[in-house]
Amino acid sequence: MADIETRPELMEKIVALAKRRGFLYPGSEIYGGVGSTYDYGPLGALLKMNVKQAWWKSVVERRDDVVGIDSAIIMHPKTWEASGHLQGFTDPLVDCKGCRKRFRADHLLEGESAGMPGLKERPKDIKEVRCPECGGELTDVRQFNLMFKTFMGPVEDEAAATYLRPETAQGIFVNFANVLQTSRLRVPFGIAQMGKSFRNEITPGNFIFRTREFEQMEMEYFVKPGTDEEWFEFWKGFMMDWFVSLGVKEENLRFQEHDKEELSHYSKRTVDLEYRFPWGWAELWGCANRTDFDLKQHAALSGKDLSYRDPVTGESYVPYVVEPALGTDRAVLTFLLDAYEEIEGGRTTTTESVKEVETVLRLHPALAPVKAAILPLSKKEPLAALAREIRDSLAGRHSVQYDDTGSIGRRYRRQDEIGTPYCITVDFDTPQDRKVTVRDRDTMEQERVPIDDLGPMLAEKVGI
Ligand code: ATP
Repeated sequence: MADIETRPELMEKIVALAKRRGFLYPGSEIYGGVGSTYDYGPLGALLKMNVKQAWWKSVVERRDDVVGIDSAIIMHPKTWEASGHLQGFTDPLVDCKGCRKRFRADHLLEGESAGMPGLKERPKDIKEVRCPECGGELTDVRQFNLMFKTFMGPVEDEAAATYLRPETAQGIFVNFANVLQTSRLRVPFGIAQMGKSFRNEITPGNFIFRTREFEQMEMEYFVKPGTDEEWFEFWKGFMMDWFVSLGVKEENLRFQEHDKEELSHYSKRTVDLEYRFPWGWAELWGCANRTDFDLKQHAALSGKDLSYRDPVTGESYVPYVVEPALGTDRAVLTFLLDAYEEIEGGRTTTTESVKEVETVLRLHPALAPVKAAILPLSKKEPLAALAREIRDSLAGRHSVQYDDTGSIGRRYRRQDEIGTPYCITVDFDTPQDRKVTVRDRDTMEQERVPIDDLGPMLAEKVGI
């Protein structure tokens, strides 16, 4: 593991690798980019899809007490009145009177831990702080609403004003009664969804850590009041276990409890699962006890009854909600950072490039964008036809790549760099024995496997 001093470089390396190998590109790059947006390239799209699938599998598919939905991004404006976002979803903003740059006052007070370079000391009051860019004087703090406003229909007036959702959670709350009526679920149960959210962040940055358009994977778990604290502990533990089970090093994860003053208006308790990012510890996954705040608010503003009646006891109550809320892009960044390893001098001793630094992306096989690479030792027949046959039989079930260019060592390194867990080499014995050599990315061990066993073998190794 790289130590903390060398980690700032790690971010640059990940950004460079992401661009070079097609994980992530700056958004609208040919026009010079736009407001810290990023586009997922071919490998990034696969990685992100695998992260979402892993989450959906463990939070929804494997559990019989959680269902998934997919609600609209644009919701009735009353939603945001009920949720408190219209009034209170703000960040404290200050401007520099000199260079006109804008900052989040709370980040300036948190100093370097919030990614503010040069702010080693934690100032007590924003009045003590000067612009970290030019040293200029800062304006007074004012509250800035983070919601993106737009207009529904052809008339741009206040009556038509709507917002892009800043969290996916509200789409779940407004469908609470629908899901109850159309499923056989009983409290305790959860509703999950993943999708885009939008926040007009004052200072986006740190690559895909904080962007204005991002994805979330959220689950609202509805429980009987009085059992909320127990369930909170359960989901808190789940969050840590999920990342560790997908290969993230435990020493790079920790819990951070929110102080009373830090709690959102709806929260009784919030704990963040934090990751040790190159600039310091920062939130990855938040777990909040949202109490009955949201359901009661929506009931009040919509006039609909959103209480739950227990079919066995006949008891009626408004459930409490425990919410684990994870950012998909932050999860992708975490997996990339944690999996990245450079090996000075290289691991391959049999090729010409012994002295090169080798990069290995030790992604969990279930997350790896490419599960196996098919590498014929020769471009000629009969190896080429056999290698094609193997590719065709695996494609559709697994994401695979065919590569017949360059030395075998170079091809291995190309795959190591993008995290491919298995390389399948078709050699000169393959036409006779119908066996191939399967190389493991992490151990570099090689095993001779019959072609017919490749499909089941891969299915077993890359599943979760
Ligand atoms: P922060 O304090 O970093 O602004 P938050 O506490 O406002 O985050 P939540 O509202 O709890 O975040 O959102 C749940 C999750 O969504 C976060 O843990 C994070 O993973 C993700 N997330 C929130 N804002 C962003 C963003 N601007 N870009 C990318 N991911 C985000």
